[in-house]
Amino acid sequence: MTSKATNVATRFPHAAKYFAESWVCPCCGQGDELNADVTLNYGTEVFEKVSCPKCFGEWKNEYRLHAIRHNETGDVVLNPSQPLAALQALAAASWLDEAPYDSDELTAAKRQARDAMAMAVRAS
Ligand SMILES: [Zn+2]
Repeated sequence: MTSKATNVATRFPHAAKYFAESWVCPCCGQGDELNADVTLNYGTEVFEKVSCPKCFGEWKNEYRLHAIRHNETGDVVLNPSQPLAALQALAAASWLDEAPYDSDELTAAKRQARDAMAMAVRAS
């Protein structure tokens, strides 16, 4: 991790809300008028330039290809180089099953991992 990654909380105090409701500015928490400008596609990564007209914050949304889905069958294959595929491997080995000796934090983390996988393979 670079030092930039540690600045997330200070530069984006509303990041959690932005991830849940993408129309809220992650910088100032205002508005529904974010400007999505240029989208740059680099193979399996896409970068979308976004700005906020209220606080003039600018950032890039970063997208990575995590799965492919067949149009006719709905078959889904997760990209093995992405984190969700790693979670899928843990689930296959029963590492994400709840156990009575798990701490509350571990129980919550396992649930979050299972939910993330379910979202990833859910038909949109
Ligand atoms: Zn803003």
